[in-house]
Amino acid sequence: MADRDVIVVGGGNAALCAALAARERGASVLVLERAPEAEAGGNSRFTAGAMRVVYNGVDDLRRLMPDLTDDEVARTDFGTYTEAQFLDDMGRVTQYRCDPDLTELLVKRSFETLLWMRAKGIRFVPIWGRQAFKVDGRFKFWGGLTVEAWGGGPGLVEGLTRAARKDGIEIWYSARALSLIADDEGVHGVRLRREGRTIEARAKAVVLAAGGFQADPEWRARYLGPGWDLAKVRGTRFNTGDGIRMALEAGAAAAGNWSGCHAVGWERNAPEFGDLAVGDAFQKHSYPFGIMINAEGRRFVDEGADFRNYTYARYGREILAQPGQFAWQIFDARVKHLLRDEYRIRQVTKRTADSLEELVRKLDDVDAIQALKEIRAYNAAVRTDIPFDPNVKDGRRTEGLSVPKSNWAHALDTPPFEAYAVTCGITFTFGGLRIDTDAQVISSDGDPIPGLCAAGELVGGIFYFNYPGGTGLTNGAVFGRIAGSTAAGYAAAR
Ligand SMILES: Cc1cc2nc3c(=O)[nH]c(=O)nc-3n(C[C@H](O)[C@H](O)[C@H](O)COP(=O)(O)OP(=O)(O)OC[C@H]3O[C@@H](n4cnc5c(N)ncnc54)[C@H](O)[C@@H]3O)c2cc1C
Repeated sequence: MADRDVIVVGGGNAALCAALAARERGASVLVLERAPEAEAGGNSRFTAGAMRVVYNGVDDLRRLMPDLTDDEVARTDFGTYTEAQFLDDMGRVTQYRCDPDLTELLVKRSFETLLWMRAKGIRFVPIWGRQAFKVDGRFKFWGGLTVEAWGGGPGLVEGLTRAARKDGIEIWYSARALSLIADDEGVHGVRLRREGRTIEARAKAVVLAAGGFQADPEWRARYLGPGWDLAKVRGTRFNTGDGIRMALEAGAAAAGNWSGCHAVGWERNAPEFGDLAVGDAFQKHSYPFGIMINAEGRRFVDEGADFRNYTYARYGREILAQPGQFAWQIFDARVKHLLRDEYRIRQVTKRTADSLEELVRKLDDVDAIQALKEIRAYNAAVRTDIPFDPNVKDGRRTEGLSVPKSNWAHALDTPPFEAYAVTCGITFTFGGLRIDTDAQVISSDGDPIPGLCAAGELVGGIFYFNYPGGTGLTNGAVFGRIAGSTAAGYAAAR
């Protein structure tokens, strides 16, 4: 006899969307969140709430954000972000390895899923501050990322939790799922630890939405490779691969890029795990307007290869591979106004100087003589005849360097100069469970495991090598909603 129709494992965006969708179809739902209430909400809570969504023009955006005023619309060039653009971005950044069926669903359901979230009480706003620059008095959005949840990640989790409670969904905090109750007929519930006791909770279907394995240094070293144990974790300490392990033990198939992950440039002296009081502000994402120097005083990536949204998720790996696992980002006064808010928090490792000679001496652990040579060579290589424009890939590049800079190249010549120390911050892992288009978990024999669905970070096959910014939450919402609905269908049929 099942205690509940559906049990959802996890307390982030994917889990709460699954719970809401299952409840909407009439199922009784229990959510198990490993974290205590004060730390609940997973990585979703650490985000800025940015969500990549298809829109064919400002009319679509007005449906998502009815609060947009005529004046705001008149002052802004929102452009479009069509299905074709989203599909193209997913293909390009994953080197065309992303699962075509899952990716098509992600893209095609993105808009309707955000509308659905809106109906559940989530408000959306344009990302004026970070995804649009002002040109001639008008904001212009760039990089396909236009919408964020009001209140960022904390606002999103709070809103979804409020909606869940209102719909009569039960949430147990500090409740860690340990294993699935499964037999030849499929999955029938979860063994969990709560208040120091191991108990069983039975259900007709289970949705796993317990995140990736990035918070476990042993799994990181095992699957991502040597050195990954040294990365800092940007988000929750609770995503240690439990959901993936439980499903694999029950016969699920592994899928996707198990040696890949999303990792960014992150404050060098940040703590081992994310800090909710700081959120995502340890990240340092304005490198396209400066340069990065390693311990040997050398540049090592094309900082302007593409818009930040399409490079930031793989540059953490590049930083981790540098001697000492760190780099310094360097800017001059002319681009200071383009630096994101995260550069102005108290918890930064920052150096300023009135000359480049003085600056390089202040960069801890760096070969100062080589760093100065490198900056001068870079400065001399900039094509100053090409105009600088932060809103487009301006093609203002360097000429003749072994590590080129392809856009936004800008000589560091105007004091004061600023430098920020970064290391690698891992966001989430790409490998995980295989699911089908109903978000059912597929067994290693190729059939769905009855009564088992999955969504969010712990699903493999969607992201490979890289990731278009703002897709994680959309992915969790789209597949969480599908998973919840499929789980409710099981509950009705079993
Ligand atoms: C600093 C930062 C900024 C980010 N910014 C963005 C952004 O702006 N836009 C975007 O789209 N993405 C962003 N991301 C990525 C995004 O957070 C994730 O892709 C997304 O939140 C994953 O959602 P999820 O529900 O799958 O996982 P999570 O939100 O991580 O939820 C997993 C949940 O499972 C719980 N759990 C784990 N193990 C167990 C267990 N055994 N039993 C019960 N519960 C368990 C955890 O406590 C947690 O509540 C960011 C990530 C970080 C860390």
